[in-house]
Amino acid sequence: MIFNTETGTDILLAKHYLDKEDIVAIPTETVYGLAANIFSEPAIKKVYSAKKRPATNPLIIHIANKEWIYELAEDVNEQAKLLIDNFMPGPLTILLPKKKLIPDMVTSGLPNVAIRLPAHPIANNLLKQLDYPLAAPSANPFGYISPTTAQHVYDQMGGKIPYILDGGKCKAGIESTIIGFKEHETVVYRLGSITIAELEAVVGKVILNSNTKDIVAPGMLKKHYSPRTPLLLTQNIEDALTQYTGKKIGLLTYDSYSQLLPYEHQIILGETKNMSLIAHNLYSAMHIMDAAGYDIIIVKRLPDEGIGRSINDRLNRASSL
Ligand code: AMP
Ligand code: MG
Repeated sequence: MIFNTETGTDILLAKHYLDKEDIVAIPTETVYGLAANIFSEPAIKKVYSAKKRPATNPLIIHIANKEWIYELAEDVNEQAKLLIDNFMPGPLTILLPKKKLIPDMVTSGLPNVAIRLPAHPIANNLLKQLDYPLAAPSANPFGYISPTTAQHVYDQMGGKIPYILDGGKCKAGIESTIIGFKEHETVVYRLGSITIAELEAVVGKVILNSNTKDIVAPGMLKKHYSPRTPLLLTQNIEDALTQYTGKKIGLLTYDSYSQLLPYEHQIILGETKNMSLIAHNLYSAMHIMDAAGYDIIIVKRLPDEGIGRSINDRLNRASSL
């Protein structure tokens, strides 16, 4: 089916499409999502096919209020309750044992369900008007850079969906932090907008899941979030620029321009003392660079602290060199 995709701010129109088992792009504070009624198998199928997402990669469920967690999950442990109290609404996704009412297609047959209560006025308003939660992975083709504006969604998903609900540029700009539990310990499965230090301030020591064989989330796949242009993540910009002399280079950097490349081929993402702003700008800058026809995009690695660590994680997976 080919749609004449519209973009707008009409929450009731978005509801209209969702109620008739179509899919709609929605804004959240992390990235734009491609949303479907979790109880509609035809709608869930449309999400997988529009994204070309393998059926083995489960979807995050977005809810209108915390009560839904108890409808969808079997066992909400004490640590989970603490994390829910402290970080919801917000960019935290929590993995809990699923109840049977959730179609297996949403969780790819896995025993857990991933749940998130977004903090975005338009997403919250829409969710409150629906009788069902929304399964919503990022609104981009599988493996490509996530969208942080309605225009990014249109560029990638135009024609495949009827409606894009425009909520402006996503505030956080990178995906949610995904956590789960293993024998009473909190495990971070995907680094994201909420930092390890923030989690540890609430539940004590957390474990970073480093078992790459144990891929429970596509955000953990080695290659993901990638532009089509080759991307190099490096600490040493000077060496990288020398290495690619003669190539058309785009540079993503922080704090100040490099003197070694014309300014018009560089984007400053922000200052390293404000890494949240860098996260906010990251994907839009990657979209711009990817469209500009460079031979290579070089990105400066951030200090591995706080959100910098989450940004490095994304850039590592996006890099192909
Ligand atoms: P995306 O929204 O495209 O960033 O992808 C959603 C993320 O949540 C992926 O990394 C999923 O694997 C993860 N996720 C969703 N549901 C589950 C689940 N049931 N078990 C484990 N991870 C999940
Ligand atoms: Mg994604």
